[in-house]
Amino acid sequence: MFPRVILKGTLIKKSQQKKRTSPCNYKERFFVLDTQDLKYSEHRPGRKPLLKGCIELSRIQCVESVFSELPIPCNYKYPFQVFHSNYYLYIFAPDNDCRQRWVRALKEETKRNSLVAKYHPNFWMDGKWRCCQQAAKLAAGCQAYDPMGCASKKPLPQLPAPEMGLHDAEEGTVIALQDYTPLKDDNLPLQKDQEYTLINSCHRDWWAVRDDKGNTGFVPSTYVTEKSGNNFQRFKWYNKNITRGGAEDLLMKQGKEGAFMMRDSRQAGVYTVSVFTKAPGSNGEKNPRVKHYQIRQAETGEARFYLAEKYLFSTIPELIHYHQHNAAGLITRLRHPVSQDGGSSQDIADPLKDQWEVDPGELILGRELGRGQFGLVLEGRWRDKKVAVKTMREEGMSDEEFKEEARVMMRLSHSKLVQLYGVRTQCSPMWLVFEFMDNGCLSDYLRARKGHLSQDTMLEMCLDVSEGMAYLETSNFIHRDLAARNCLVSKDNEVKISDFGMTRFVLDDQYTSSQCSKFPIKWSAPEVIRYYKFSSKSDVWSFGVLMWEVYNEGRLPYENHSNIEVVESLTKGLRLLKPRLAPDAIHMLMEWCWKEKPEDRPSFALLLHELASLSDP
Ligand code: ADP
Repeated sequence: MFPRVILKGTLIKKSQQKKRTSPCNYKERFFVLDTQDLKYSEHRPGRKPLLKGCIELSRIQCVESVFSELPIPCNYKYPFQVFHSNYYLYIFAPDNDCRQRWVRALKEETKRNSLVAKYHPNFWMDGKWRCCQQAAKLAAGCQAYDPMGCASKKPLPQLPAPEMGLHDAEEGTVIALQDYTPLKDDNLPLQKDQEYTLINSCHRDWWAVRDDKGNTGFVPSTYVTEKSGNNFQRFKWYNKNITRGGAEDLLMKQGKEGAFMMRDSRQAGVYTVSVFTKAPGSNGEKNPRVKHYQIRQAETGEARFYLAEKYLFSTIPELIHYHQHNAAGLITRLRHPVSQDGGSSQDIADPLKDQWEVDPGELILGRELGRGQFGLVLEGRWRDKKVAVKTMREEGMSDEEFKEEARVMMRLSHSKLVQLYGVRTQCSPMWLVFEFMDNGCLSDYLRARKGHLSQDTMLEMCLDVSEGMAYLETSNFIHRDLAARNCLVSKDNEVKISDFGMTRFVLDDQYTSSQCSKFPIKWSAPEVIRYYKFSSKSDVWSFGVLMWEVYNEGRLPYENHSNIEVVESLTKGLRLLKPRLAPDAIHMLMEWCWKEKPEDRPSFALLLHELASLSDP
């Protein structure tokens, strides 16, 4: 009798780490559970999947979720374990539902096996079990194993009653929308989808929360959302009792491009986003006006809410947050939240606002490092750290928006991004204080080492950038100007991404219009050149060009061609040629990044895994 397939899908598998130094041990695999085995295979674009492993179900002794306080270093954040033949296989699912489905199905199929009595709820790492500190990998577990049940998160605390106002609802529950690594001592780390008790939400940007171990600290308010689905009162952008006409009056009075609010629609349970714009409409209308977009819900799927097709979110605050940074189909980005009782939220004093402001007394400025798009870049020292200070000429940039966005950029924190430590906005010119990168920009670094770069080094550089970009992708943040010149190299030769999102603040037309000389046409996807449509997939195109730069040791793409010639050859379907040093597999990834249609290009998560599999011995 043929085995019957029970469950299949893409998950990430942590390799058994045979070598401690193996560089990346998380791989995307296609898993199939049938009535006999758990099999996993490698997806190879354009080729047959390659079977990589097969575990007989009769050998499985325990299947259970793993709960860990550690940040999960791959894009799927929901781990579970399969213990078989004295091996622990760690598998990561994209969401909790998916994890529960796999754990439940595997338990069902293995419940009659000879099972363990106890298991380890946390990871084996660095030579010990993180749950019980035992140092033998095969030491008996520390928690009773329930072959029928599904270990799940603890029950929720009682939710605040819906009629509770802002002040008596202080102790609600929030859920983390994404991981957060603290930037300051009084911050608390967040793990995506974990629940936290809300202690204080008086400040707009920073809420105090408590985790399930009783630790308290501040977290960015945009990183969490309230458990009770439609209690939006805390958000500045929500106006409960306002009519369409009232919203229009208020927004017109503000008169700021992108002034917006969310309000209740006439239809119960439906919400509308109203936004002010002066941008010309498709029918040529030029008058300042308010546009209204109803928040729609897809029929199925976990991510359901959307304003413009294709950009789906699990919660409304997530959706608003995304559109605060990306117009993505709207007439303009949602720039300034407006509320009935407070005007524009930017006018409201924020006691924590200053926490990003760098105290000039703490900063020592040194020699000039270079000259950038916005002004001088200086070496500096700040709080015992070597830093790079970018001074920003205000006449070159859009100031108000920048101040707002700098806060978002500071919350982005990843080892492969050049960290922004703080800003000084209360002076002119403004300063941005960045992590110092000893080896300067990637394009110069490549050129200086021409002829001496090993295959491993070049692959490692692409891996570094894809890792940072995969993080930006999951943070819904679009770089818009990814190129070797916008990456920097650390003392340890690690490549990190810099200047993310900065092009939005350049006011120089030569730079921002695709018709003009400074626009980075040679790194831009066709839809960016044609319609100025940026997305993570347009970043993927640029990443393909960056890989080309790496494998050409810093050569400029389309060296002796004008922008017009480049556009013409792209239109004909022509692409950059295979670099002499690039192996076929790398060239194939470049070509994949340069697919005409954005949806045909891989995600950064997938690119990261493809590159990692090339680096594995
Ligand atoms: P922009 O992107 O505004 O044009 P850049 O980021 O290219 O400016 O900065 C100009 C130069 O300053 C770079 O080529 C590099 O040599 C130096 N630089 C910029 N940021 C750093 C940093 N974080 N650490 C060290 N040097 C830096």
